[in-house]
Amino acid sequence: MIQAKGYAAQSATSDLAPWNFQRREVGPHDVQFDIQYCGICHSDLHQIRDEWGGSIFPMVPGHEIVGKVVKVGAQVKKFKAGDLAGVGCLVDSCRTCENCKDGLEQYCTNHVSFTYNGYEQDKKTPTYGGYSNTIVVHEDFVLRVPANLSLPGVAPLLCAGITTYSPLRHWKVGKGHKLAVLGLGGLGHMGVKFGVAFGAEVTVLSSSPSKEAAAKQLGAHKFVVTSDQEQLNSVRGTFDFILDTVSAEHDLNLYLSLLKTNGTHICVGVPSKPADVSAFSIIVGRKSLAGSMIGGLPETQEMLDFCAQHNIVSDIELIKIQDIQKAFDRMIKGDVRYRFVIDMASL
Ligand code: NAP
Ligand code: ZN
Ligand code: ZN
Repeated sequence: MIQAKGYAAQSATSDLAPWNFQRREVGPHDVQFDIQYCGICHSDLHQIRDEWGGSIFPMVPGHEIVGKVVKVGAQVKKFKAGDLAGVGCLVDSCRTCENCKDGLEQYCTNHVSFTYNGYEQDKKTPTYGGYSNTIVVHEDFVLRVPANLSLPGVAPLLCAGITTYSPLRHWKVGKGHKLAVLGLGGLGHMGVKFGVAFGAEVTVLSSSPSKEAAAKQLGAHKFVVTSDQEQLNSVRGTFDFILDTVSAEHDLNLYLSLLKTNGTHICVGVPSKPADVSAFSIIVGRKSLAGSMIGGLPETQEMLDFCAQHNIVSDIELIKIQDIQKAFDRMIKGDVRYRFVIDMASL
């Protein structure tokens, strides 16, 4: 076994602390890479605190992982030592169901192996994520990382990037569409960048008036403060799509009223409590309430290549791993522009 070190939560109420653990030896199809940077996703916090239920402890969070390959198995074709590599939210899936065959491994109907807080395909070996020094993953679940992009800014693309890219592509959001991005955090700011790159008119709907200038710098055309009734009224019935990235409870009926006839509200944020939706909010105007979860391997690679071509990375604040609790506290307050990334050299 390979000795690894990282930061882990031992229970839903304990702070993260240093923890030593083991990773499997590099198998014939495996890639081992040393982790240089790992993004901090709000999902890390939801899961550490067991806000969705069923969390597995000890938990080494982290699913926005980039680094340098140190060892590959004899059968590995895609990677060699020294290459850049990335891993997102998935490290394996059944590979045989219809969704896996369609490159939608995130919707595997048998068993998805999430990068952490999950189990390998044997359904009993726990997975440990990227708040650690090294990782071993089957080459099919390792992404090629473009060399022309700033590496710390690439890390969040592996979750925040693909989670916003995938639904915008699925619903073919682009020129002629009015897209609202609800919540300007890690996911939201990537939603703005992709929406703008795809040619949509992008409005940010935010609870933080202080984010207006930054939103415009990201390329947003308009900014609406969601607590300001007058501003909200001015955009009622105007959007083709709302990309909802909010991590806490919020009133979907209110946001559905901002959609045009036939508009679609796409949930990607995952508040811990179910939402109340009135049938009237969707029947009047034939509206759709939809959702989307991360993205499959082929589309994640497509997104990274698109970012390389269009020079898109995440706007990040680099932190030492010892400052992780402070970062969580600030993330809860919405005080991050727009993703914390851990510099793993600090571990
Ligand atoms: P984040 O960086 O904390 O951003 C969330 C944003 O939501 C905040 O910046 C804030 O934006 C807004 N917000 C937070 N609390 C709010 C409240 N009480 N009322 C109104 N707005 C509030 O989080 P993230 O990493 O982007 O993740 C967002 C959500 O997506 C999380 O629930 C996460 O678990 C989920 N997620 C889902 C997927 C998927 O596959 N679907 C993948 C990754 C993450 P403003 O200040 O602009 O209001
Ligand atoms: Zn995530
Ligand atoms: Zn499958």
